[in-house]
Amino acid sequence: MTDHQSGITVRAPAKINLHLGVGARREDGFHPLVTVYQAVGLCDDVRVERSPGWTLGVTVPDWIDPDAVPVTGDNIVDRAAGLLAAHHGIEARAAVSVTKAIPVAGGMAGGSADAAAALVALDRLWDVHTSDDDLLRIAAELGSDVPFALLGGTALGTGRGELVEPVVDSSTWWWVAVPSREGLSTPAVYRRHDELNPDAPEEPESAATLLLALATGNPGILAGALHNDLEAAAVDLRPDLADLLALGEDSGALRGLVSGSGPTCVFLTAGADEARAVAGELVGAGHDVVLVANGPVAGAHVVTYA
Ligand code: ATP
Repeated sequence: MTDHQSGITVRAPAKINLHLGVGARREDGFHPLVTVYQAVGLCDDVRVERSPGWTLGVTVPDWIDPDAVPVTGDNIVDRAAGLLAAHHGIEARAAVSVTKAIPVAGGMAGGSADAAAALVALDRLWDVHTSDDDLLRIAAELGSDVPFALLGGTALGTGRGELVEPVVDSSTWWWVAVPSREGLSTPAVYRRHDELNPDAPEEPESAATLLLALATGNPGILAGALHNDLEAAAVDLRPDLADLLALGEDSGALRGLVSGSGPTCVFLTAGADEARAVAGELVGAGHDVVLVANGPVAGAHVVTYA
């Protein structure tokens, strides 16, 4: 090992699903998806340092309930470390600190971001040089959204979301995100979706319209193409989200959308100034946590080596 590897911080982004087509539940319990992910500049940091054992600490901002993030043993970062260590036949040893800024159980894949960041950070710390293919395979084992958190940018996701390929996206899109204090369980949202759609088609809805809209670079056109098959189920479980979506659109957003399985609502705006203006209106209306982020941004990447 080289000296610069005594401590490493890796940053990984939240995702928004610009398109989320959900097919009928498969026999293995998963739903086939066709999704277009976008990584946005709302990021968690995972810092790893050398240690004779394994420790994990989590720091949250005041708007995230610290009890919502599992402690070591149940955290997805433990699983990421375990799988990577087992792959190389070594012991998982590190002192890890996770600094959260991505809403927890919010439909923005915060846990997946932490898992991806941990894989990249521990690969460096342990100096094990995992190949990209192996890293993606381990990521897919950890969760459907984890490979995308490694890749970042904008990408098409198929399978159960774990098969990712980059999509050319040379624009910068501006989003406002409003998290909820209470999270929503992703499995519960899928269950409600199944109840509401007993005749769901086997094949998820294609992302062709969204991809054409993305290529125009025009936020007004993209707004019209945003699509989330889970939105109805999330709103059914949390009817207050309908009011929030309407409020954001009345405040000047081009379109409001539930992020993934929710309950975070995201609003596409015409640009940076418009995003700040919409955020100001939402704060004025009583929403105390309103975040502004642009995308696409990079996937899990090293930010400090010291
Ligand atoms: P997804 O959309 O990927 O299903 P999400 O964005 O809705 O997930 P996450 O923040 O990833 O939600 O958390 C989902 C659950 O994962 C949480 O309820 C929590 O119990 C568990 N979890 C495990 N590790 C973490 C972590 N490092 N950060 C947040 N949640 C974690």
